[in-house]
Amino acid sequence: MPKNKINSIDLAAVYKQHQSEFDAAIASTLNSADFIGGKALAEFNAALTEFTGSQNIITCGNGTDALQIALMALNLQAGDEIILPAFTYTATAEVIALLNLKAIYVDVCLDTFNIDVKAAEAAISPNTKVLMPVHLFGQCANMEALLALAKKHHLYIIEDAAQAIGAQYNFNSGETFQAGCMGTVGCTSFFPTKNLGAFGDGGAIFCQDEKLASELKMIANHGQKEKYVHERIGINSRLDTMQAAILNVQLKHLPAVIARKQAIAARYDAGLANITGLSVPARDVKSTHVFHQYTLRINKHRNELKKYLADAGIDSMVYYPRPIHLQKAYQSLEFPIGTFPIAEQLCEEVLSIPIHATLTDAEVDYVIEKIKDFFAGIVA
Ligand SMILES: *Cc1c(COP(=O)(O)O)cnc(C)c1O
Repeated sequence: MPKNKINSIDLAAVYKQHQSEFDAAIASTLNSADFIGGKALAEFNAALTEFTGSQNIITCGNGTDALQIALMALNLQAGDEIILPAFTYTATAEVIALLNLKAIYVDVCLDTFNIDVKAAEAAISPNTKVLMPVHLFGQCANMEALLALAKKHHLYIIEDAAQAIGAQYNFNSGETFQAGCMGTVGCTSFFPTKNLGAFGDGGAIFCQDEKLASELKMIANHGQKEKYVHERIGINSRLDTMQAAILNVQLKHLPAVIARKQAIAARYDAGLANITGLSVPARDVKSTHVFHQYTLRINKHRNELKKYLADAGIDSMVYYPRPIHLQKAYQSLEFPIGTFPIAEQLCEEVLSIPIHATLTDAEVDYVIEKIKDFFAGIVA
């Protein structure tokens, strides 16, 4: 057993790895006394634009705000329908409810965990206005098919790219775009555990249309373009300068973080191949996977495996233990238990094992060994 517990994420290690850069960025912000706006924020906006290739980026307070601002900018009416996967983080559904819009959940694909486009198509009604795919765990949803569907039915697409910054999607045309930069609006989060994490909250919105981008920016800033001239009701949602300074450091290292996570994923894939009752995460041939999570499917005994790993000093997590349509806050007679069998099955089967960039190969091998030991015990 290794000396240290193997955590799902190790933020202290991330800080220590680049401590002098973080300390300098923080000290520089303190010295400039720019806490809102200022140089570090402008630098981050420019660097993120360069990294993602997005035409416009609006930074904001967190990923949930990004989703809310995106929905507000589309000038929807109460009761308009938004199609989203039943297997996602709460925030995706929450903002829909907050704005008095109607969430229409659909099932996901068993292999990629992402929205099932056929199910999305079947759920379209005359009131449908938006498709809201989530690029779950760091791999893009089937954007080729979703964009075609949106075009055919005149729908907007809001991408929830909170877990997928840096993932690349290759279209049949040969064009490549980054997660968040394909739909009408894309949203991401800089929550500390995300691949591009602040040391606090943060978020950003991507938009390829100038006019809509200016609307998004205005909404994030109290509905004003000009100070004290309020054109519409907005909110106050800002990425503060300290977080931008920290993110400037993190963004520089993001390609290395993604590459390391992909190498760990390949090591897990090889080490965990051919175990009956365990599936490694499937890859969509059109998308790269940036592994916000490395998520196994365990057909039986998932909770026993989780406990077995915990006893061996290995953290593992269940994202998500309950689909949105079965959460108390979002329950409705329209979507009773059994409505989305794949999402419900995944909640029983998924297990995310440690995949942060500061893990060593020896630690990864130890995790593999313990999982194999568990399955050997089950069969024996
Ligand atoms: C993290 C996350 C969000 C919300 O981001 P916050 O910054 O925590 O508000 C939204 N959607 C998904 C899929 C997420 O993983």
